[in-house]
Amino acid sequence: MKYQTDRAFAEKMDAADALRSFRAQFHIPKMKDDRDTIYLCGNSLGLQPRTTQPAILQELKDWQELGVEGHFRAKNPWWPYHESVTKQTAALVGARPSEVVVMNSLTVNLHLMMVSFYRPTPERFKIIIETPVFPSDLYAVESQLRFHGHDPAGALIKLKPRKGEDTLRTEDIEDVIAKKGKQVALVLIGGVNYYTGQYFDIARITKAAHAVGATAGFDLAHAAGNVAMKLHDWDVDFACWCSYKYLNAGPGSLAAVFVHERHGKNFELPRFCGWWGHDPKTRLKGIDFDPAAGAEGWQLSNPPILSLAAVKASLDIFAGAGIDRLREKSIKLTGYLEFLLDSLDTDAFRIMTPRAPDARGCQLSLTVRENGKAVHAQLEKAGVVCDWRDPDCIRVAPVPLYNSFADVHEFTRLFAAALGLKDKLREAV
Ligand SMILES: *Cc1c(COP(=O)(O)O)cnc(C)c1O
Repeated sequence: MKYQTDRAFAEKMDAADALRSFRAQFHIPKMKDDRDTIYLCGNSLGLQPRTTQPAILQELKDWQELGVEGHFRAKNPWWPYHESVTKQTAALVGARPSEVVVMNSLTVNLHLMMVSFYRPTPERFKIIIETPVFPSDLYAVESQLRFHGHDPAGALIKLKPRKGEDTLRTEDIEDVIAKKGKQVALVLIGGVNYYTGQYFDIARITKAAHAVGATAGFDLAHAAGNVAMKLHDWDVDFACWCSYKYLNAGPGSLAAVFVHERHGKNFELPRFCGWWGHDPKTRLKGIDFDPAAGAEGWQLSNPPILSLAAVKASLDIFAGAGIDRLREKSIKLTGYLEFLLDSLDTDAFRIMTPRAPDARGCQLSLTVRENGKAVHAQLEKAGVVCDWRDPDCIRVAPVPLYNSFADVHEFTRLFAAALGLKDKLREAV
């Protein structure tokens, strides 16, 4: 792709964008003067689809008018409601429908998955994670280790980038897994790292874990709805993700899990149980627990329908756009951001996210050399929504569903101004 620095180029790209109409399906937060903000924070909280409110109101109305009868007589009956989001969820991550279910929240699901898939023995008990690791994942993994009587100091292996590098090399990850070999029980990696934006090679990491007899699990909080995956074909054991980042289902909304088919039919696997994971045909009989086949067998409770309505509203939009088409646009859009940032030709910041498009999602993480916090504050004042992560990182995520090439151009112009690169700005953008 050949990019140009002038604003007219951005406008031309937007005009030619087959997905441009999707932006109008979202509420874009406004500035005080009623202009749209430049919202580049879908990696943290995705925007609200215009269809979300009516979808939730429908459930409130059915509850008002039908009470308990809504379980079977609502427009979208609540009893099987979770099944209505299964197919689209599976399509997003490259799974078979029986391999996914929408339930609980992300950290809860990580624990439930580790109950089944972290089964340490005296010889094999170590867990490998990446760094920087999202705090919740660290706490979940450490507490699982302690729960099984292991000290994280010796049992938790943290992958670190080489000196002078920002991100991990796949061959180094493979090396550590191979070296620790039979001691490794679980390799748990973020599909896309929340801080650096690195998209890991899930297939190769899974293969390396399996080669030493370990289980491979992934936290896809920053991958789901961002990159196109093939969890089934890649033979991933399990994965978890939330729906409020790229999946636009609202703050704290329901999460999802993937359990590979070969485990979903293994009823000997230990698991924590609840009535919703029971075979739905005999769910109310109170007989011995008889899990539903597939990921559904890990459910505990009947799901919150208001949140599920938001998940469904959002997934309907994804189904219309298609994750492959979104990814195709995303690669262009983030490539454009990279191009414009490079054109500023400065050492005031650097891009820590990998340069290869297949090693990242839409997010670029920028390390600002000096006064990063002030730069971020100035961006905020100018109407840019992106986030700041200590000690020196600004994360910028152009989302293909609702961000435009013009957004990216405007961001770069404002970023250059915030860095005091006025002359550069004139030359470049
Ligand atoms: C966002 C995020 C979480 C958040 O966990 P919740 O249980 O949804 O609060 C956890 N892990 C990662 C990697 C995340 O990016």
